[in-house]
Amino acid sequence: MSFSAKALREDFPILGRSVRGKPLVYLDSAATSQRPKQVVDAIVSFYENHNANIHRGVHALAEEAEALVEASRAKTARFIGAPDPETIVFTRNTTESINLVAQGWGRKHLETGDEILLTELEHHSNLVPWQRLAAETGAELRFVPVTDDGVVTLDAARAAMGPCTKMFAFTAMSNSLGTVLPVKELIALAHEKGALALVDGAQWVPHRKTDVRAWDADFLAFSPHKMLGPTGLGILYGKSRLLESMDPILTGGGMIQEVFYDRATYASPPHRFEAGTPHLAGAAAFGAAIDYLEAAGMDAIHAHESALVAKALEVLHAESEVVVLGPKDASLRGGVVSFNIADLHPHDVGQVFDMEGVAVRVGHHCCQPLMRKLGVGGTARASFYLYNTLEDVEALARGLKKVKKFFKVGEPAKVTQRG
Ligand code: PLP
Repeated sequence: MSFSAKALREDFPILGRSVRGKPLVYLDSAATSQRPKQVVDAIVSFYENHNANIHRGVHALAEEAEALVEASRAKTARFIGAPDPETIVFTRNTTESINLVAQGWGRKHLETGDEILLTELEHHSNLVPWQRLAAETGAELRFVPVTDDGVVTLDAARAAMGPCTKMFAFTAMSNSLGTVLPVKELIALAHEKGALALVDGAQWVPHRKTDVRAWDADFLAFSPHKMLGPTGLGILYGKSRLLESMDPILTGGGMIQEVFYDRATYASPPHRFEAGTPHLAGAAAFGAAIDYLEAAGMDAIHAHESALVAKALEVLHAESEVVVLGPKDASLRGGVVSFNIADLHPHDVGQVFDMEGVAVRVGHHCCQPLMRKLGVGGTARASFYLYNTLEDVEALARGLKKVKKFFKVGEPAKVTQRG
């Protein structure tokens, strides 16, 4: 069946509601996506039919629960082209996945004189964990500079990398500017220098086909809640030998091999990194989200989002008071558009959009250093997903006009006559 955003909106009851008396227009999927009925049903079904704790349960429910969780792990592996399910660790979110690598791998393998390379685009979740690791190990943090358009070039990355670079951690797509990075080439550069590469896939995996083996990524972190799945679940993919070399950051039940009063040995990955009772219902239901995305088709989703972004850029560029941030070259953009209107505060802009039922995100988007570098306090951000339509872009255009009218942007200042 061909891709139809209009048809699949039927699966998302929330998109049928109104907000402030207007039909909801949801342009905030980069923060978290909505979930279709199929995923909500899978969560309910877990609790209604299969709920039990996993790990060596011998009763039927425990076996069913474990089978569902492990089936999702296998599906996740297949979805990102990972060689086997054991390379998939369930965490709480992208943030925890990156912290797990920083602490579990970094503390063991880095020392004074080593360098950790990031880009200037990174979300705080792919920055602060490395800052902490650098402080703990004596390693140095370095950054690939971005152009004024928020682009990371291969030349800039090559120049920033040195013989001491041990880890290059970068986002595949910027959550604040929409820039798409040349992932495969950046990973190859890191490998040339003998460094590992961690890809923050929070904004990529939900929107584009992912193949960790074609990329040769060492680690990939992403969040199911941004791709129709449940909140409270994160994914870390890691090459087997690297996961094997890592220490857990949480210890306790579920991650051990053998325990004595004075010591313990740890299980093999991925269970070594999954101490305590995980988000079982979430993990089980994530499989339904993957099924949904695969049925829609990742290439079709990408093409659909590109068309919406092209239209949104047209609408934004038509207003002279609007400044669009991020790449001028549309082929370097994903489904995120960041903008400012004259010198209005993004929060004011967001509030007027909200009055129109249009949900956009405003602020620094967890990228304070980048905003500082670009000389802005923040932006308004519209982000698109498979269920958005051209009508949503029209609502964005109406919102823009409303903001301009509300704040009298572009109107000549009134001249008051003195008597
Ligand atoms: N990295 C990027 C690029 C993101 O966009 C986000 C969330 O917006 C994160 C990391 C953090 O994701 P989470 O809050 O699910 O940990």
